[in-house]
Amino acid sequence: MAKRKVAIIGAGNVGITIAYTLMLDGSADDIAIISKNKEKALGQALDLSHGIPLVNNVKIAIADYDDCRAADIIVIAAGAKTAPGETRLDLAKRNIGIFSEVMTEILKHNSAPMIIIVSNPVDVLTYMAITTFGLPATNVIGSGTVLDSSRFRYFLGKNCNVNPSDVHAYIVGEHGDSQLPLWSLVTIGGVPFDIFCEADPHSTMGAPDRKEVIADLVKDAAYFVRDFKGATYYAISVATLAMVKAILRDENGVMSVSGWMNGQYGLKDVCLSLPSIVNAKGRAAVLAPRIPDDEIEGLVKSANSLHHILDSYLR
Ligand code: NAD
Repeated sequence: MAKRKVAIIGAGNVGITIAYTLMLDGSADDIAIISKNKEKALGQALDLSHGIPLVNNVKIAIADYDDCRAADIIVIAAGAKTAPGETRLDLAKRNIGIFSEVMTEILKHNSAPMIIIVSNPVDVLTYMAITTFGLPATNVIGSGTVLDSSRFRYFLGKNCNVNPSDVHAYIVGEHGDSQLPLWSLVTIGGVPFDIFCEADPHSTMGAPDRKEVIADLVKDAAYFVRDFKGATYYAISVATLAMVKAILRDENGVMSVSGWMNGQYGLKDVCLSLPSIVNAKGRAAVLAPRIPDDEIEGLVKSANSLHHILDSYLR
């Protein structure tokens, strides 16, 4: 069987935790870590390798950009992270420069890479990969609101006292402050959220404003974690593993990845997250289910806030 290779660019908290998560899972055979700070990355790769005999016989090593040639997937996790008081979009200017450098290097070695973008602002960088660097839209998977949707499911599960994996729910739009929950699509064990709540004897938060409370918990989750420990990296790594597996195993997973809008809900010339099919072809299709007008309005608002950033920095 062909070896499955994943290159990770950026060996900070997120990049290395992605490598660790992939190693534990074993779905990639070869994990190449590409970093500016080679010494630190070497230390990380060695530390990770020493656990290989106890989990999966994968190869983990530091690498150069020419390793992107043979990579089935390239995960981009290089970039500055938000400082206290800074929104993800404040980061745009700094990370656009780093992303341009990284993409230019990748394209020297692989003209049609399959990339997963984790660096922020992820929707802006996803847009750049397609427009500035000309990658096919299917090959560009922005991590988008995959993590936010996982947080949403987690909080819903806690609130309704059910296993979060039995909750299906999506956060869509920008991976950032204008994101929104699609309440109309939330199901718990297949039961629509409002119907579940009518009969829910276990609710820990039966207040009428609980939708608002949960949506705020999701939106502010990254800020809370960052205030406590400085950065988020475990849950995003698990989210990245889910995307990597969906591609390597051709799973047709439904995930709220960020990508090019082709007129869905009237949205064009912008990248944001909607539930999409992810398989060996990448972001193979976008689902645009029927949703109520207020949710469409929320999506349009979110797209407008991204248009504003794109107009300021890229167009
Ligand atoms: P970090 O500061 O720990 O690491 C960043 C890494 O990027 C460093 O190793 C640095 O050497 C590297 N780097 C910087 N410039 C580079 C360049 N030109 N070429 C190659 N490497 C370069 O940051 P982190 O916590 O690992 O976060 C990384 C990115 O992931 C940030 O942009 C952060 O906002 C983003 N992030 C996204 C999500 C999400 O849900 N999408 C979640 C958490 C973090």
